[in-house]
Formats: sequence, structure tokens, C-alpha cells
Amino acid sequence: MNIEKTVAFQKNSRNIFFHILTQCNLKCRHCYINPKQHGNQTLPVETVTKWLKALWHEEKTSNLIFIGGEPTLHPDLDLCIRAARKIGYGSITVDTNGFLFNNIVEKVTPGELDYFSFGLDGSCKEINDLIRGKGSYDKCVAGIEKALLKGFDVSVIYTVSQLNINDLQEMPGFLRGLGIKRFFIQVIGIRGRSAQNEDHGLQITKKEWGSVVPLVAAQAARLGIHVTYPKVFLDNSEPFECAALVAENYFIFPNGRVYQCPLCEDFPLHSYAFKKNKLTPSPPVNEKDLFQLSIPEGCVMNKLIQPGNLCYDKQGRPEYKIACCLLKQDIKP
Ligand code: SF4
Ligand code: SF4
Repeated sequence: MNIEKTVAFQKNSRNIFFHILTQCNLKCRHCYINPKQHGNQTLPVETVTKWLKALWHEEKTSNLIFIGGEPTLHPDLDLCIRAARKIGYGSITVDTNGFLFNNIVEKVTPGELDYFSFGLDGSCKEINDLIRGKGSYDKCVAGIEKALLKGFDVSVIYTVSQLNINDLQEMPGFLRGLGIKRFFIQVIGIRGRSAQNEDHGLQITKKEWGSVVPLVAAQAARLGIHVTYPKVFLDNSEPFECAALVAENYFIFPNGRVYQCPLCEDFPLHSYAFKKNKLTPSPPVNEKDLFQLSIPEGCVMNKLIQPGNLCYDKQGRPEYKIACCLLKQDIKP
């Protein structure tokens, strides 16, 4: 029997998404990296270590995700992983597009790294390469096989958009064939590159999301795959919480900005910035001032940047709420 539940925001655990560079060899259509807002430097391992120490908390479990850009383009990613281990980070993941540059699978061991998480947006070349670029599917699948062969735990992240929602149902069988037991489904947002496309034609409606994603997730769980996907939409009776008020998530960029909300990342609204390697609160107005606002539509940032996904009845009341983008549904086999 599958066990499905909404993942409550955890007060005593912290997730740290560390963009150690913004450089990447691909140009995915949904990429949220915005060098004007995030910088384009590659952080030296010494700086990465100082910032990791500044964010370390003795009494809380800290999960660390090295991300980019493509983090394996960082020549010292192995040293960054080891530095994080030494400080005491509980779980360490590298999010990669699968090219696994700098021979990273030879430079770290499964004991040092908890997961390689591969971004793959199609069960076949035609779909994935339309989104992530020619040749990216073959490289990613080869990277997954290489990491599995070396004994690493591997997960796959699939970002759902109009370009690949019909292919999602092929993923459970495909992942089982590869031997993957962890699957993260994401939804395209209006950030970075997809925000520049003014008709927002890749976005997914509530009906499309609800009629496809939960069913595919359940199907994957039946095949023995642990699946996590965002709630995205809430019925009016379901409680709304803003993760930034009840949990700890930090999104760090190479220019020193530290956000608590991914939807704010296209704007200079970051809560903190590293100044002389010290985590320094930003002056108002910043994202923290927005988190406090309580509106019937749920997420405030969603209403500001992507109100097109809201619907109202004749009395002007929202028909549903938009969940925090960090609220996940989890299905274990
Ligand atoms: S692999 Fe990641 S960082 Fe690179 S372009 Fe694609 S989404 Fe952006
Ligand atoms: S997505 Fe919305 S609800 Fe979630 S942290 Fe950001 S502002 Fe808060």
C-alpha cells in the first residue's frame, strides 16, 4: 500500500540551497538562474566554507544542496563537499544536469555524498532535449548509470510544463528500468527564463496538474519509487502556511544574496546578504515584509508575480488558494 502525506514544514530542520556558481553548459527553457540578480562569480572553496560555517546551527539538522548553474563545473566541488561534511551538515546532495564535469564521481565517495540528483525532463530524447538542449538526454542518462555503478544514491528531478506533462506518465516505468528509487516532480514557475516569455505559455493549470501528477506519483510509488511533488493548489478548506514563517530554507547565490522564498529570487528582496562573509539582515523593504501579509489567495508572492493562475467566483472570492511553493506531497511505496 502506498503511504501518501503532505510534508509538514519542519521547525527544527533547515534546508540550504547553495548556488556555488551560476555558470552552466545548458540553456534549459525553465531555468530560473538570473545572473543580473544572482551574480556570475564562481565562489572559491574558502568562501563556500566560511558561508557554510556562518549558516551552521548546532541544534538543528541542516540539509545541504549544492546547486548552480551546474555545480560540477566548480573545479573544487569535492573540497566543498568535504568541508560541509567536516562542519557537520546532516545530508549533502549535488543537483546536476548529468554532465558530471571535473570527474566528480571519481573525486568523491558515496560515504561523503548522500545523493546525486539529476535534472531530466523527459523519458525520451525528443521531449527532454526540446527543453534542455540537444544531446542533454544521452549525457544525463549516461551520468545516472555511471553514478549508480559507483554506488551513489541517485534521484531524478522532473520539471513539469506544457512541453512534457503528457510524457510524465512514462517516467515511472523508465525510472524503474534505470533502477532509481527517488523521484522529485517539480512545476514550472514564472522565474528567470520562463518569466521572460510574456504569454507564459508553458504554465500548467490546476485542472492539468490535478488530473496528471497525483496519478503518476501513485503509479511510481506502486513500482517501489518514493515520490515527492509540490501541492501547488489548495482547496479553500485546507490550511495555508508560508514556509518562510514556519520553517528554515535558505537560497544562497554567489553575489552573497540569501533568500528565504524562491519566488522572490528575480528581485532584490533577499532577507540577508553575506557582507565580509557575515550573514547580514537586509534593510526593509525585503521579502520578510511580504511573508507577513495574509490574503485569501494564499501565497502573496504568487499573487504579485503570477496572478494568472488564480480564479475568482462571481462575488470576487478566490475559488482556491495557491500553496507555498515549498509545500510538498510525499508518496512512499
Ligand atoms: S541545467 Fe540547471 S542551471 Fe543549467 S540551464 Fe538547465 S536549469 Fe539552468
Ligand atoms: S512561495 Fe509564498 S508562501 Fe512560500 S515562502 Fe514564498 S511567499 Fe511564502
